[in-house]
Amino acid sequence: MPAPALRRENKLRVLRCLFERGPLSRAQLSDLTGLSTSTLSYIVRELLNEGFIEVTEIEPNKGRPSQILSIARSRWSVIGVKVGREEVRGVLFDAAMQPLEKKSVRIFSHMRNNEGYASAILRIVDELRDERLLGVGICSSGIVSHGEIIVSHLMNVRELNVEDRLAESLGIGNVVLMNDVDALAYFLSSHEKDDFLTVSYGTGIGASFWSNGHAKHFEIGHAIITNEGRCYCGQTGCLEYHSSEYAVLKSYLGKDIDFEDFAMNEEEKYRPIVEEIRAKARSNFESVRVHYLGPFRRLSFVLGNLIMVLKPRSVVFLGEGIVNEEMVRILERFVTEKFNSEFIGSVDFRLSHASWEEGVALATVRRFLPKALLLSTR
Ligand SMILES: [Zn+2]
Repeated sequence: MPAPALRRENKLRVLRCLFERGPLSRAQLSDLTGLSTSTLSYIVRELLNEGFIEVTEIEPNKGRPSQILSIARSRWSVIGVKVGREEVRGVLFDAAMQPLEKKSVRIFSHMRNNEGYASAILRIVDELRDERLLGVGICSSGIVSHGEIIVSHLMNVRELNVEDRLAESLGIGNVVLMNDVDALAYFLSSHEKDDFLTVSYGTGIGASFWSNGHAKHFEIGHAIITNEGRCYCGQTGCLEYHSSEYAVLKSYLGKDIDFEDFAMNEEEKYRPIVEEIRAKARSNFESVRVHYLGPFRRLSFVLGNLIMVLKPRSVVFLGEGIVNEEMVRILERFVTEKFNSEFIGSVDFRLSHASWEEGVALATVRRFLPKALLLSTR
């Protein structure tokens, strides 16, 4: 490798390490990057001169003062946007991933189409952006590929090219678009070991498998598990029909509700009851437990099958619908009772929390960090 390319490679390694694991001492940085002390001190000096990193002197009670290195907060900014059916939300983060500013746009039913969502995204990004912007990360429900929301039934969006819109209207080129469960997996990836399955549970069900530094999303909610139950996606027998909070709600109310009506009018018509069930599950799970058992048993079939195929080390549950540890234990018990341990191995079932906006912003920095470095050395 020619000297300038090698130097850039080493700088990127140090910068990535500080971004993901920092703040760090020189010794820790040397251990983690595998760079010699002399190479490291040269690289650190350059990064300091270019304003990418900062030094803090720590004076311990005993011994010599030591230096702690961290990313310079004001060196760049990044925007993370979550596109949801009811709302588009954005957060501007500094280089240390501390939130600086938040914006949101409420999506009313007449705005639920390509134009409505596109204009909300553009407005939020335009209001949040500053002159140091490294990139924009956007996550959305539905099928997302190559800068485009291919389809989201819940948002009534088809073939919306978000990347093109941001480039054309705002002149922003560094854009990452991904599925929203993948964004949660990115958030978790900074402290989970490789090969974990993220499952989000609520009025919808989503999943993403993290392996080798990448998230792979799949529409687990539309896995077909029976021959009955018309789903809003057009299929019959989807997991979301039989296992989501929609199924819990029907059991709780003791009556049938049209799934399409629920999916399209949840916020307006059903949200207070869904919230009531969640609140009871939080404060006194026994009082509503029975309504979760059927839906969770059906969810456990699909989960067990997925675990057999993907062999994750852990399954991490999150989302508005999973409100206590006991829910996770029920799902774990259903899976381990139903499947032979030889088939599914030993899997850790865990409850966690994650931020969409931070997850997608993190993925954006990882992607565009080399570009930032390249611009500074020109
Ligand atoms: Zn479906």
